[in-house]
Amino acid sequence: MDNGLNNSRLDFKILAQNINDEPLVYLDNAATTQKPKAVLQSIINYYEHDNANVHRGVHTLSQRSTNAFESARDKITAFINAPSRETVIYTRSTTESLNLIATSFGNLVVEAGDEIVISPMEHHSNLVPWQQLAAKKHAILKYINLTVDGELDMNHARQQITDKTKIVAITHASNVLGVVNPIQEITKLAHQHGAYMICDGAQSVPHMKVDVQLLDVDFYAFSGHKMLAPTGIGVLYGKVELLQAMQPIQFGGEMIDFVHSQSASWNELPWKFEAGTPNISGAIALGSAIDYLTNLGMQNIQNYEQKLVNYVLPKLLKIDGVTIYGPHNPTNHTGVISFNLDNLHPHDVASGLDMEGIEVRAGHHCAQPLMEYLNVAATVRASFYFYNTKADADRLVNSIQTVKEFFNNGDI
Ligand code: PMP
Repeated sequence: MDNGLNNSRLDFKILAQNINDEPLVYLDNAATTQKPKAVLQSIINYYEHDNANVHRGVHTLSQRSTNAFESARDKITAFINAPSRETVIYTRSTTESLNLIATSFGNLVVEAGDEIVISPMEHHSNLVPWQQLAAKKHAILKYINLTVDGELDMNHARQQITDKTKIVAITHASNVLGVVNPIQEITKLAHQHGAYMICDGAQSVPHMKVDVQLLDVDFYAFSGHKMLAPTGIGVLYGKVELLQAMQPIQFGGEMIDFVHSQSASWNELPWKFEAGTPNISGAIALGSAIDYLTNLGMQNIQNYEQKLVNYVLPKLLKIDGVTIYGPHNPTNHTGVISFNLDNLHPHDVASGLDMEGIEVRAGHHCAQPLMEYLNVAATVRASFYFYNTKADADRLVNSIQTVKEFFNNGDI
């Protein structure tokens, strides 16, 4: 079933430990992923051999550091099939990428009365920036409904996206429901109406082959830490003519061309949007993570996660009292599964699972409007990655039974 992917578990030392006297099963990959030895080693190598600031030194270390930093950008460019390296901007995270678009590009193109279309399954970072922009510009924020299964209702999308729409901003994959949205189709729809398409790729780039040119999105955002790299490094891809038209929102070193006493001009892309000393080791580590993922094969990873979900979902559905949010018969699903158990509070379920060595998340998952939409306060979320096994899935299923019995027997 795993195409050898599980052999890679040995590269993740953190996974080989006990939690509460039970072997760890890490199922919180939608929050952040673990880091393989090669990625950690790339950070150590950088600091042991090449550490210097980038772009400004003529000395050897600075040149080495700059080369490593910029060659990681080339790896990212190839990984998402961006047309050129100047379209790949380093940021801190998906959140920073989306805020940069909403603030700079939003300011440029959105006017009073324009419409911005999003969905109820957006993470707060692809929702609040648009709320803020709409309020500032007196624009209107509209939502595409979900089907009862938790998929985007494309009929409703065709009603909501009109000639009044300026921006459509939709996640590629939900961090709660696990569904993968038809971004190519939505992008086409947006473009037919003269709107720009922005895609949140935080939960897709780590799990499937993403081709930004094939999708034809105008902007695409993702985070390194959800794809084996450290926190503090993210990416914004944008079409070159749009990035050229945009103003930077941070000013300082690196992003300038020339500064006079009363005025300044901006550096070329991509550096125009990279003010200050960047996260050099983070970018290099992201390059190393991309090497690692490419070596495993993104299609293999996607197929494997789909198989794991197809294996575990029916078992979860069979447990009396389990409610699954999102499609029950998924054909296009990442390794994210959200559920509730009886009337138990999700935090109690997650604490109970932690007692069994199983790390899952409980809460609103930074998607409060989705919780409202689902009419729940919170959910438990198990999120799988390629290093998880069928045995991990079995442990989850069995431990949910244990937690259920524990609480139902009143053993608290
Ligand atoms: N969008 C989605 C779909 C996410 O899952 C997340 C992280 N949970 C984000 C955006 C934000 O990512 P970050 O916190 O790395 O900025």
